[in-house]
Amino acid sequence: MKVKEIIDKLYLENNASFEELLFLLDNLTPTDKVYLVEKAHETRMKTYGNTVYMRGLIEFTNICKKNCIYCGIRRENKQADRYRLTLEDILECVEIGDRLGYKTYVLQGGEDDYFTDERMIEIIRAIKDKFPNNAITLSLGERSYESYKKMYEAGADRYLLRHETATKELYESLHPGASFEERRECLRNLKEIGYQVGAGFMVGLPNQKNSDLVNDLLFVKEFEPHMCGIGPFIPHKDTPLKEEKGGTLEMTTTMLALIRLLLPNVLLPSTTALGSIDPVGREKGLKAGGNVVMPNLSPTSVREKYSLYDGKICTGDEAAECRKCIEGRINKAGFRVEITRGDNVAWAKENGYHKVTKGNIQLENIKLI
Ligand code: SAH
Ligand code: SF4
Repeated sequence: MKVKEIIDKLYLENNASFEELLFLLDNLTPTDKVYLVEKAHETRMKTYGNTVYMRGLIEFTNICKKNCIYCGIRRENKQADRYRLTLEDILECVEIGDRLGYKTYVLQGGEDDYFTDERMIEIIRAIKDKFPNNAITLSLGERSYESYKKMYEAGADRYLLRHETATKELYESLHPGASFEERRECLRNLKEIGYQVGAGFMVGLPNQKNSDLVNDLLFVKEFEPHMCGIGPFIPHKDTPLKEEKGGTLEMTTTMLALIRLLLPNVLLPSTTALGSIDPVGREKGLKAGGNVVMPNLSPTSVREKYSLYDGKICTGDEAAECRKCIEGRINKAGFRVEITRGDNVAWAKENGYHKVTKGNIQLENIKLI
């Protein structure tokens, strides 16, 4: 078995076995890595071209009832300065976002019981009333089937719920009191309801082995999410994992490239966490197959408080600055921003969304009825 042959197989067949993926991770040389990234880039060029989709991230609450041991806003972190945004705050972010060209808003937060279904429905409807053609992505953790359904019916389009790790023992060691099966059940429910669903995992968790990462790759291949969020684990000073080492740029970009090869159509963010461990981390993620960025739209007054990990970038920048900075970086890396909802290509096709372009600029993903 040769690593290059496995990469060629991944490129041609978008598949590989557990043994092949493990062999690849255990034996990948710097030369192989260059080849892997090249093939992931070619694959992305075939499905999404050189475009990058933007999502405006609104971190609307850092109050959380869960206690994930890696996370800086976990329940037991008494140092965290807690906040919630009001409906008006959120709408203000959305309006600024629309003007800046963000046609998707990601509402992300801790698992905060204050945000009942009724309150979430009110927020979702208020955004959709103002911007019916823009997309809403939710990322609020685990909720019941009925809750997910109500929010979908109110107008939410997508849901991000990373599976975090596909190895049961590792999952349980990181999530006291939480259930590995229930998280997966949530992902299945979201898909069944009709959301575009994002799974995903952290790279470089304490005690995570290459075989665990292969479990992640194969879980994502099998579940076939519309999106996949992959970022390095970064220790947070007020958590039990504060002394641990974090994930590396190299390992994270390897995972991004492999996911692009396994699922050519997937929406693949080059994450803020990657940009936080390396000054050009996001650019490297885009070059390894990433096609989405999620700049921050939260009010600057709360950015520092939404502290999942140490060293988060852009906490002092206004939304407009982030917007300008990210476009400059994207262009410099050889890509271009596309101002659209940025749906998964396969999903858009199935659901009757068509690209409307003027010259070489795509204007909108329009639903033709
Ligand atoms: N509460 C929701 C959404 C907010 S957390 C949820 O957990 O799904 C969003 C993501 O941040 C998590 O899925 C996790 O993968 C990531 N995250 C949390 N702490 C982190 C850390 N220390 N380093 C890197 N990523 C982290
Ligand atoms: Fe809460 Fe999400 Fe952090 Fe877990 S990762 S403690 S659910 S915010």
